[in-house]
Amino acid sequence: EAEINQLKALIRDVPDFPKPGIVFKDITPLLGTPWAFQKVIDYMGNRYVGSGVEVVVGIESRGFILASALAYKLGAGLAIIRKPGKLPYKTVSASYTLEYGEDSIEIHEDAVRRGTKVVLVDDVLATGGTMSAAIDLVEKLGGDIVGVDFLIELTFLGGREKITSRGYPVFSLIKF
Ligand code: 5GP
Repeated sequence: EAEINQLKALIRDVPDFPKPGIVFKDITPLLGTPWAFQKVIDYMGNRYVGSGVEVVVGIESRGFILASALAYKLGAGLAIIRKPGKLPYKTVSASYTLEYGEDSIEIHEDAVRRGTKVVLVDDVLATGGTMSAAIDLVEKLGGDIVGVDFLIELTFLGGREKITSRGYPVFSLIKF
């Protein structure tokens, strides 16, 4: 608990980013602190050691940072979910609604094979829209989702419910 609070202190609030009125949680001070980055990956990964996770799926772009270290720790493969037009091979896509309008994300059609044990990772759970679309993608490919993990959860936005209501366990290390 004391350690979690030390990690929490390394997350910086940036007001009015990327838009006026939004307070952005900046994780770069935490990533840049040697003991802290290692602790984060150990905490996030330890619960999956020995659970047979085969692929860690990271969401562009800060999700990649955590997902790649986690995949290494678990001896798992890494799959990436990106914004439209970034992936070179054949993709499947899913769209989700934003405050104004729509956005979509993509994954390579062979990134997750049917029945593969998968953990999904992103840095922040806000409304849950992004992760919900990511789950759509992994479901389309037939992946077996064993966990959905975040470094930070913004609990006041209620995103957790969007994911647990689909039957998947959510884990977040730091809650605001
Ligand atoms: P959601 O779809 O849950 O509303 O938003 C989550 C996505 O937006 C994540 O991919 C996350 O990286 C990004 N995001 C939203 N708010 C923040 C924030 O305050 N800090 C960071 N680092 N990312 C955020």
